[in-house]
Amino acid sequence: MKQQLIDNYERVHTNLRISVTDVCNFRCIYCMPEDMEFMPDSALMTYDEILRFTRIFVRLGVNKIRITGGEPLVRPSLPHLIEQLGQIDALKDISLTTNGIGLITQAQALYDAGLRRINVSLDTLNEEKFEQMTRRKVLSRVLKGLKAAHDCGFNPIKVNAVAMRGFTDDEIVDLATFARQNSYQLRFIEFMPLDADDIWGRNMFIPGKEIIDKISNVYPLERMHLNGDAKSDTAQRYRFADNGTELGVIPSVSEPFCESCNRIRLTADGKFRTCLFSITETDLLTPLRDGADDETIEELIIDAVAKKEAGHKINAADFIKPERNMSRIGG
Ligand code: SAM
Ligand code: SF4
Repeated sequence: MKQQLIDNYERVHTNLRISVTDVCNFRCIYCMPEDMEFMPDSALMTYDEILRFTRIFVRLGVNKIRITGGEPLVRPSLPHLIEQLGQIDALKDISLTTNGIGLITQAQALYDAGLRRINVSLDTLNEEKFEQMTRRKVLSRVLKGLKAAHDCGFNPIKVNAVAMRGFTDDEIVDLATFARQNSYQLRFIEFMPLDADDIWGRNMFIPGKEIIDKISNVYPLERMHLNGDAKSDTAQRYRFADNGTELGVIPSVSEPFCESCNRIRLTADGKFRTCLFSITETDLLTPLRDGADDETIEELIIDAVAKKEAGHKINAADFIKPERNMSRIGG
């Protein structure tokens, strides 16, 4: 039988997030400080190393990959990597998460390389708030990037908005209106304690339920009932009853979905993580660079998955924040 990545709780892992860089051209307050230090280039996996790891993961049952970062579009020649990933037969799905600014110039090349699914992070439609959130005054360029992706034919385009108390509250419905008008699938993500600046607090995230209640007061919503692969989706998914556009909330803090988690992660420096909130990780890149064969890397991966944590402990008294912030993990 084909080898699968199964943990002690019988979760089967088919979904891998690969970070291609920790570098970013934004400084979102919920992610990193203004004076963030980045890894040296020599610490980052090369594209050949990423491809080799991906082939190993695919042999172990992974069939979905998301490219992320840092900001993946600051890594040179990303379309080339996408094209090569697309040639790996058993990979059903390749997607990308980006802050969107690079799409103005790169959307077409990414599309031509075979990418079809894209998530663009956009937390606000208000210029001042955008600048406060990202520490960059570039909202109009992100909107142009979104449009460029839309014009190329990307489908679906998902828009990720981190929901922060005091920032997002009065924009929930505006973001929903923007998304439905443009047929973007909006996903509100509860702010998680993965910021480098320690600004997270229990009063700083907006629970998914509150978001859905607010939107459904204006636009009637239908809950989607999920089957098969979609059951392990992190989002609670809804549809606008009148136009069918999807929207969702990712309630990682208020309603954790760890028991159905099928996600694993590879950081830009080649460390394997079984949970966003892992406090341990497995170095795959050093053994690979030291000449380890594929079977040795496979064993390291299988052992790490077997020890995957039951779930995160954000809501427990003994919660320990991971040393890496979101941009160094790969969100
Ligand atoms: N730079 C790209 C971007 O922003 O889309 C990709 C990497 S970013 C780390 C991936 C996702 O993580 C983004 O949607 C971002 O909003 C989200 N994120 C970052 N820090 C977060 C936090 N503390 N809580 C919840 N989501 C967070
Ligand atoms: Fe950069 Fe994405 Fe982190 Fe914002 S969330 S600072 S865009 S890596």
